[in-house]
Amino acid sequence: MDRPMADAIHYMPARPTLLVRVHTDEGIVGLGESAAYGGSLESMEAVVLGELRTTVLGQDPFRVERLWSMMATRSHQRGRRGMLMMGISGIDIALWDIIGQATKTPLYRLLGGYRDTLDAYASAGFYAGDKGIGELAEEVGGYVERGFRCVKIKVGRNPDVMLNPLQDMDAAGYATVPFEEDIERVRAARSAAGRAKLAIDANNAWTPSVALRFMDAIGDRDIAWLEEPVSTEDLAGSVEVAHALRTPVAGYETETGLPGFRELIARRAVDIVQPDVIWTGGITETRKVAALAQAYHLPVIPHVFSSAVASIANMHLIASLPNGGLLEFDQNPNPLRSELFEEPLTVDGDGRIRLPDRPGLGVTLNQDTLEKYAYRLS
Ligand SMILES: [Mg+2]
Repeated sequence: MDRPMADAIHYMPARPTLLVRVHTDEGIVGLGESAAYGGSLESMEAVVLGELRTTVLGQDPFRVERLWSMMATRSHQRGRRGMLMMGISGIDIALWDIIGQATKTPLYRLLGGYRDTLDAYASAGFYAGDKGIGELAEEVGGYVERGFRCVKIKVGRNPDVMLNPLQDMDAAGYATVPFEEDIERVRAARSAAGRAKLAIDANNAWTPSVALRFMDAIGDRDIAWLEEPVSTEDLAGSVEVAHALRTPVAGYETETGLPGFRELIARRAVDIVQPDVIWTGGITETRKVAALAQAYHLPVIPHVFSSAVASIANMHLIASLPNGGLLEFDQNPNPLRSELFEEPLTVDGDGRIRLPDRPGLGVTLNQDTLEKYAYRLS
């Protein structure tokens, strides 16, 4: 990236992406993506090719539920979260793409086809270099002018609050903002958003008391949702925040698998459930998370923040859900989102996006883009 960006605790100088392809003996190639957040592409590739590949080789892709279970069960000593679940996710998405192509059906219709179009929200407002409050407000206003009816910005890059994990992270001094100035950032963004909704995302940075103090200061009414206010491990803390606020608490993209989301949902630690098909456990596991959320009358607004493959895979899932409908649409520069497909994903002037009517994921990779950005593994 020309200008590195950061959320509350993560510094992002680049946008690494691990695409997964599964080939069948009938010549169908399924496409997926495994989230590669938090580490090297080499280690993530080793999980997919070294740990999981042999389990699915030679198997029937239509038995995706069985293959998911085999991948998860055989690797259970290596952990059912983190990298293993990211790896399973990429293969699982590719298997669903294969099933869609083989049956000549768009994936979202195969999954139930609740709707054909989604509302997109602009996911932006990151910290960067000397980006000030004026630049942030201008940025937010620009998305609203382009038709977005909801915008999300980052909060929480505050080294002056207690226990902020930022202190242990890479480039911890980059583009930080004192707590009080962060409150001003949100006030300015709220005002720039006008009639549009504004959500804020703390990416696990705060303790419950810091989160409540922040929401007191900005007014606990005018925010669409507060995302990942506390550590994903602090379940009781998230319950406390969710119970105390009128603003819905959303999360946790950093949780994975149905068992993890079961705790968040059943204990009322979240009001909005945010899995991600490239991270949570693919289409297979994320559908179950969404069904559980539905049983608790909770909406699902997935985390979507990587390549165009992550976007389209999450779009198919969201379009299939009665308790879904809103798509996170990253607005930061990323050619692997904007140039990866022959027909790029675009949002119309009303902030809406339509699902493709071609089979499977319904997309074709742009070979020039692949070659231009391919990361050659040593
Ligand atoms: Mg987030």
